[in-house]
Amino acid sequence: MKKFVGKGVYGAVAAGKATVLMRYENAVKRISIEDTGRERARVTAAIEDAKKKLQDMYERALGELGESDAQIFAVHRMLLEDAVYRDSIDSVIESQRVNAEYAVTAAGESLAESFAAMDDAYMRERAADVRDVSQRLTACLAGETDREGVTEEGGILCADDLPPSVIMNLDKKKTAALVTAQGSLISHAAILARSRSIPAVVGVGEEFLAQIMDGDEIMVDSFAGEVFLEPDAETRKALSEKQRAAEEERHLLQSLRGRENISLDGRKINICANIGSVEELEAVHASDAGGIGLFRSECLYLGKSDYPTEEQQFTAYKKLLEGMAGKKVIIRTLDIGADKQPDYFELKREENPALGCRAIRICLTRPEIFKTQLRALFRASAYGNMGIMFPMITSVAEVEKILEICSEVKAELKAQGVSYSENVELGIMIETPAAVVISDRLAPMVDFFSVGTNDLTQYTLACDRQNPDIEPFVDIHHEAILRLIEMSAESAHRHGAWIGICGELAADISLTETFLRMGIDELSVSPAFVLKVRDVVRSLDLSR
Ligand code: PEP
Ligand code: MG
Repeated sequence: MKKFVGKGVYGAVAAGKATVLMRYENAVKRISIEDTGRERARVTAAIEDAKKKLQDMYERALGELGESDAQIFAVHRMLLEDAVYRDSIDSVIESQRVNAEYAVTAAGESLAESFAAMDDAYMRERAADVRDVSQRLTACLAGETDREGVTEEGGILCADDLPPSVIMNLDKKKTAALVTAQGSLISHAAILARSRSIPAVVGVGEEFLAQIMDGDEIMVDSFAGEVFLEPDAETRKALSEKQRAAEEERHLLQSLRGRENISLDGRKINICANIGSVEELEAVHASDAGGIGLFRSECLYLGKSDYPTEEQQFTAYKKLLEGMAGKKVIIRTLDIGADKQPDYFELKREENPALGCRAIRICLTRPEIFKTQLRALFRASAYGNMGIMFPMITSVAEVEKILEICSEVKAELKAQGVSYSENVELGIMIETPAAVVISDRLAPMVDFFSVGTNDLTQYTLACDRQNPDIEPFVDIHHEAILRLIEMSAESAHRHGAWIGICGELAADISLTETFLRMGIDELSVSPAFVLKVRDVVRSLDLSR
């Protein structure tokens, strides 16, 4: 047995066979080949394999999301059948006498570049599709796991790192757990795994990948952040016991369903859920959350090869609002950039992407994207109780501009006779020290604040949230963070706004009392933590 230690993301125990997903860049080597016929035959087989997978995905998406979302998989399938694409791969194999993986990548890249150079914007965006299809084909050639997840029922996906798009697309039924060599507790990959209640251990180190082979038996203890390769009988027993105790606790918490979030001395607080997809509504209902405190709308943009249309977004937001039947749904506008980089956005490479063009900065510099999203949001607002919030705010001018654009969008809808709700609450995320310092100026402009502690921690402590090496310097309970939250609460309340916390710290039960004493009005946590936080609130007596 071998043990590896990282950070546990969502408390659970899982056992299964490892499926090792190497990084795409690592998989493509240029190898000189004698038997080019064999390489071409491998391409033929991989194309058939990829087509089958795309057909499955098409059918799954058709059932879950509808024809327009499913269409992309049909388009990718057609590209695999395209004679020009196929000929260009064969020609690289024959002319350079190289392996199929390299030929697929090289031919795909040159085709993508020619699309990217076209005048027509629609054709230019097809470059991302070509790259996506080539990557899929390379993965099939390497006999890798499907990029959308593990192929074996109950497998444990092991990787160097996983982009948020892969986590969002994972088939939960097939994925018992995730283990990554890289990653930190507040990286988006970890947060999305937690939000989807997928047990995960991140940051176990490169040594893990060097030791693990596809098919190895592993056990994951995401309470302790431990991973066991070929676990012995004693470890198996101890972990099964841990799992049993956790299940018992979860079962006991079920008795709190339908109960109020009220402390012993009568202080009430809202407890809401954070999610990133419409499919997670089921988990929200199971958690008995009072609403959705954070819908990460950028998840609708991840794992796609083109911008979601206004209609696609409208359908998703409407489903959310209808699904929550009058309970509040707060949708955070597009927070793309930094670690979330869909190809089709064609974001410039930046030295420090977390300090670069991300979140609201993209929306304000590319207003056509922002307006499309706002139109979809306001249209959907007619179907329930919606709040909209804006990420990564640093200035009064940004909020003024946002409010101006919202008014423009509403005026356009009105002129077109399209209905929307006049009661949409508008809020901003408090994620930068600048926003806290000027919170007394920002609070009168909005209905609410929502503290994003993940970014607030990153920007206050000057610690990149993606970098596991600096975790010793990340004190999530740092006095500075707590003081900043308290200052924000004071500003909000002084100006008639309410304040919630939707970063990961909201689920930290060692701080629940502190937050209640600060007067925080709402905590929004991953669905799996709602009842746990309710339990703690109900045990507190703030009069003492
Ligand atoms: C945060 O920063 O705390 C937050 C909730 O937003 P995200 O984690 O998506 O950046
Ligand atoms: Mg954030």
